[in-house]
Amino acid sequence: MTLKGKTAIVTGSSSGIGKAIALEMARKGANVIVNYRSSEEEALEVLKEVKVLTDGLAIKADVSNEEEMKSLFEETVKKFGRVDIVVANAGLQVDSPFLEMDLKQWQTVIDVNLTGQFIAMNLAARQFMKQEHKMGQARGNIICMSSVHDMIPWAGHVNYAASKGGVSMLMKSVAQELAPKGIRVNAISPGAIKTSINEEAWSNPANLKELNKLIPYKRIGQPIDVAKAAVWLASVESDYVVGETLYVDGGMMLYPEFSDNG
Ligand code: NAD
Repeated sequence: MTLKGKTAIVTGSSSGIGKAIALEMARKGANVIVNYRSSEEEALEVLKEVKVLTDGLAIKADVSNEEEMKSLFEETVKKFGRVDIVVANAGLQVDSPFLEMDLKQWQTVIDVNLTGQFIAMNLAARQFMKQEHKMGQARGNIICMSSVHDMIPWAGHVNYAASKGGVSMLMKSVAQELAPKGIRVNAISPGAIKTSINEEAWSNPANLKELNKLIPYKRIGQPIDVAKAAVWLASVESDYVVGETLYVDGGMMLYPEFSDNG
């Protein structure tokens, strides 16, 4: 499984899952664009690790800002001549009980998690169409970072669950439209992965014990678990996989609450 000679943009890759994907893609030979919104220092650290393996750039851009994302794509093409893989990974949570949730909390999450993915996918597809395309190979590859909450309702997080449910139909509809052009679009839906986004769920033993009740495989996921799936989805090894969501969740989607007959 190689990504040698490919150029990959990974949004929100100064930390967590995005960082693991950036490094794993570099390990497989891709040049990697480390995108960040504010944490330049962390992004430069990731870039340093990328550069030991291949080449890359760290580029500041807010995924919900189309102009900043356009500049990110332009800078990438200027440096590497093309884009082959785009991982729309950046995301956030702004949690609140529904009765207290205001429009700003709703809009912030939709802007980043859903509109941000639309912008990255749209710019990716336009760039792929400009590039030379070898018959028998994908013209380009888009991976959307979704969540088990594209299927599992989540009280107290309705903005997040709605954004990921939206990502699911966005991904499938774009996949249906772009497959005839040779562009592959898929999603990964992680379960509970140990990153800063869900620190509360794993940072003390009592919470971790509760979390494990939801995970048949009885361990919290690590960013590398998702990164390995992303490399596979971006590689020719998964060439016939189109419009799919790969759940990387230790079995969280298996309704473990029913394992003793409910
Ligand atoms: P994280 O907080 O470490 O990573 C999210 C990254 O997105 C951060 O680097 C953050 O700076 C960046 N980001 C946020 N808003 C941005 C913006 N407007 N522009 C550019 N970058 C922005 O958390 P993570 O767990 O690595 O999350 C990565 C993705 O995985 C998210 O889409 C998240 O919804 C998804 N996910 C995570 C889990 C989990 O359990 N950790 C589960 C399911 C899905």
